[in-house]
Amino acid sequence: MIIDTHTHLDDQRYLQDLDKVIKRANDGGVKGFLIPGADIEDLQRAREISKKYKNIYYAAGVHPYNVDGYDEAILREFLNDEKCIAVGECGLDYFRLPEDKSEKQEQKAQQKEIFTKHIKLAVELQKPLIVHIRDANEDSKQILLQNYKGEAGGVLHCYNASKHLLDLSELGFYFGIGGVLTFKNAKKLVEILPDIPKDKLLIETDSPYLTPDPYRGRRNEPFYTTFVVQKMSKILGMNLQDIENLTTNNAKMLFKPLKSVI
Ligand SMILES: [Zn+2]
Repeated sequence: MIIDTHTHLDDQRYLQDLDKVIKRANDGGVKGFLIPGADIEDLQRAREISKKYKNIYYAAGVHPYNVDGYDEAILREFLNDEKCIAVGECGLDYFRLPEDKSEKQEQKAQQKEIFTKHIKLAVELQKPLIVHIRDANEDSKQILLQNYKGEAGGVLHCYNASKHLLDLSELGFYFGIGGVLTFKNAKKLVEILPDIPKDKLLIETDSPYLTPDPYRGRRNEPFYTTFVVQKMSKILGMNLQDIENLTTNNAKMLFKPLKSVI
């Protein structure tokens, strides 16, 4: 059994065939799902989906690209819901910053401020934190170390895997491993995977993005976590069943309400 700990099932690209996407996943052994929050406007849809399917949970947060829309009152309202089990995704993403130096600084500062607000919310509400990091390892680590003592733990959902982030596992951080692992140019992630503590590995798709090989280029969906599990099993020299058991147990440790449905 696999739990997809990061799937944007509230995305427009699933509007037409969500039932089929969920069925394909369930039939293929993917039995639990967590929809991270990305934008305030999508939270209502995430809530509706989680009400319809017993094994789908969601989180409330604002992706670093959408920090302008941050609204703490609305996040709090969703975080009161029993199916809303984590804060995020939130974090830093310096991949698309403007060229202009002062604009760049301004956007970085805004991202940092909103990231910190999410962390404080997670600490106050004792919910795990879903962290998005892209091209911002250093700043992200610093902010986490300053503001988070690990309280309810969290997951790092990172594009640029780095040894530098590994010691965050001591703060209770897990590492979300997705389709990037299957890419031919994923050398870094392949290299550090064995160094990630086994009890901190999670499986995710980030669907509809980052589709694994051999379907790279198509819309991603939770069923394709099976390709990530296969690649992980090869790299770690563990059989598929052991990878599934390990990562499913890890997901239940971090996102405890999942225990009651799966
Ligand atoms: Zn995401």
